[in-house]
Amino acid sequence: MTQVRLRQIRKQYADGTEVIHGVDLDIHDGEFMVFVGPSGCGKSTLLRMIAGLEDISGGELHLDGMLANDIAPAKRGLAMVFQSYALYPHMSVFDNMAFSLKMAGQSKVSIESAVQKAAAILQIEHLLDRKPKDLSGGQRQRVAIGRAIVRQPKLFLFDEPLSNLDASLRVQMRIELSRLHQELQTTMIYVTHDQVEAMTLGQRIVVFNGGRIEQVGKPLELYEKP
Ligand code: ADP
Ligand code: ADP
Repeated sequence: MTQVRLRQIRKQYADGTEVIHGVDLDIHDGEFMVFVGPSGCGKSTLLRMIAGLEDISGGELHLDGMLANDIAPAKRGLAMVFQSYALYPHMSVFDNMAFSLKMAGQSKVSIESAVQKAAAILQIEHLLDRKPKDLSGGQRQRVAIGRAIVRQPKLFLFDEPLSNLDASLRVQMRIELSRLHQELQTTMIYVTHDQVEAMTLGQRIVVFNGGRIEQVGKPLELYEKP
């Protein structure tokens, strides 16, 4: 659970173009927030600034009330899941999920337990010995999510995680992500250009356009016609 506060956040890339123009937003503890909008509107840039993967050009990012603009990504207590699965190809599923915990020096027993627990949540226990190349797209994405879960982040960031999956798998994964959120009760920020995905996943939705927030609200508030 993490509370995220954005105040007048701006982003100017090195070539001089400003792509985020002063965004104010509060994301509550445990909330599932979706950023939606057309390609190029700046959703992903904003998410990467929250993750610390992109410098903030102006304004303030607060995580749990603490100014976080200059906190290193690894110290922000978050985990990010990308569109491309970025699994280590030579490692088994188990080792992919265990890797960050091994790096952090956790004991074998606690690593084993964390991986088993995450695998159970994602229903991939039977795949732990496989290599990524022997998995389907949906299974790979589950492993990528599993790698994030084992670290018990207080904040999950998803950048178009389902875009590479076919339509029926996307529907299934949406249901699983909602279930995951209910189970973990962790703050989640989810970027998509897909309005259906935004409507089904978001407790609240932020609609972006041209580097600005156009609307913020619950799904029905945004799309219901008077
Ligand atoms: P979205 O996620 O909504 O598709 P992005 O955040 O990826 O949008 O991109 C927002 C804008 O910033 C786009 O116009 C994109 O071309 C531009 N942009 C992204 N990365 C860079 C970069 N490294 N340098 C310059 N412009 C960039
Ligand atoms: P290492 O000696 O390389 O640290 P371990 O002795 O922990 O590894 O385990 C040997 C290998 O067995 C690991 O690399 C891992 O791929 C696999 N492994 C360990 N536990 C499990 C498990 N519960 N399910 C599937 N594979 C596992």
